[in-house]
Amino acid sequence: MVQLYRHEPFTDFTVEKNKKEFEEALKTVEGYLGQDYPLIIGGERIETEEKIISVNPADRDEIIGRVSKANKAIAEQAMQVADETFRWWRKTKPEMRADILFRAAALTRKRKHEFSALLVKEGGKPWKEADADTAEAIDFMEYYGRQMLRLKDGMPVNSRPIENNRFNYIPLGVGVVISPWNFLFAIMCGTTVAPIVTGNTVLLKPASTTPVIAYKFMEVLEEAGLPNGVINYIPGSGSEIGDYLVEHQRTRFVSFTGSKEVGLRIFEKAAKVKDGQIWLKRVVAEMGGKDTVVVDNDTDLDLAAESITISAFGFSGQKCSAGSRAVIHQDVYDKVLERVIQLTNKLTIGDPVDVTNYMGPVIDQAAYDKIMGYVEIGRQEGRLLTGGTGDQSKGWFFSPTVIADVKEDARIMQEEIFGPVVALCKANDFQHALEIANNTEYGLTGAVITNNREHWEQAQTDFNVGNLYLNRNCTGAIVGYHPFGGFNMSGTDSKAGGPDYLLHFLQGKTTSEML
Ligand code: GLU
Repeated sequence: MVQLYRHEPFTDFTVEKNKKEFEEALKTVEGYLGQDYPLIIGGERIETEEKIISVNPADRDEIIGRVSKANKAIAEQAMQVADETFRWWRKTKPEMRADILFRAAALTRKRKHEFSALLVKEGGKPWKEADADTAEAIDFMEYYGRQMLRLKDGMPVNSRPIENNRFNYIPLGVGVVISPWNFLFAIMCGTTVAPIVTGNTVLLKPASTTPVIAYKFMEVLEEAGLPNGVINYIPGSGSEIGDYLVEHQRTRFVSFTGSKEVGLRIFEKAAKVKDGQIWLKRVVAEMGGKDTVVVDNDTDLDLAAESITISAFGFSGQKCSAGSRAVIHQDVYDKVLERVIQLTNKLTIGDPVDVTNYMGPVIDQAAYDKIMGYVEIGRQEGRLLTGGTGDQSKGWFFSPTVIADVKEDARIMQEEIFGPVVALCKANDFQHALEIANNTEYGLTGAVITNNREHWEQAQTDFNVGNLYLNRNCTGAIVGYHPFGGFNMSGTDSKAGGPDYLLHFLQGKTTSEML
């Protein structure tokens, strides 16, 4: 028996010892920046001419690593290895596969600050966010390992006296995992280990902005005893190898986390049955959000302002769960707005190696330009109260931005910005606030700040999001505690870190034996 799952605790950086250890870890990481990293296919290291250059978004001259870049021919080679490996990996004992995850979790835990320090450098994450990202990666391994042990013998079914029936879960085949840069460790890890613990093999294409952490994770898995070929590490361009693998007739499933545009493209491509393909591909997609913090009139105003600010500006709003809009009851609108400005103006921004900076950079030039574009739109659509400025002299820094008095159908109320911009909108009453909150094509997270029990009950039925929170921020789901995934254009509502997540990578098989 394994012990019960408990989530990995977050580090308290006000404790001097923890702070010192993290500073040491940053030095360790600085010691290996700028190295070359090969692809890994069937355990073999493959160097290519063409490289993906991963840079520190807080200082674009600092190279995190130069990573070999897969092309179509290499992707095909990886597919063949994954396909062959699946033939025997699918028959391995679930206990063994779970143990590899437990061991990898333990190895990660031992070097926890080092991994988090790498996330500070490669992802531009403030310490706290980086620490939570690593903790979540550990959680995914611990949690999915346990979930596999729960599912390994299938589920009970009835048998008549003349038969012996069983219902078991078996794996699917080769999966393509396309992971994002915002939870560069946690989501990359979770979306990769869920398919393998269930007996599938994986082609891992990490985000091109953050491929180094994925390489480091491959090393951990190898050290934990993962056999060659089960996960194949192939960074590369989406339009070249991403599309090629999504369309491949041997691809059994695709797990994608990223933008709605790319998600839709993958969904469509995966739906087309290729010559020689004998199955319908499964797509697990986590695509984005336009998440709302709803503030009622019967409420704690400080809590409301705090929830809005944390939801909007944690990791510079670069979470699909980010609360990029707040809908506030007219009775308390002005007061909440005033408090939000006060809190926002106190936020510190700068290089995340400095623990006192609450916000670091945004991920790259394209993100910076996109956010700036939305601020311009926001100026037309509402009243810019604070922020709206950037500094791209060294990295891509953007100030926390609040735009008030925005109409419910405004573009900045509808489109995902993925940056530190929050739109504030006034509602006539709670019912109206819920209507505005639901007035989006997404449906990922939401928060309700109220002391009114009836309103909370109403929100539970009517607020159409996959993750709904009361009297707190709408970010920060914890594995095993808050299964995470959204409705509508937010994706396939495949609840990561939830009890049924592994079923996406399994198929049910009934066997019936006559007695
Ligand atoms: N699970 C994260 C949260 O609850 C968000 C994941 C994402 O942004 O993709 O904040």
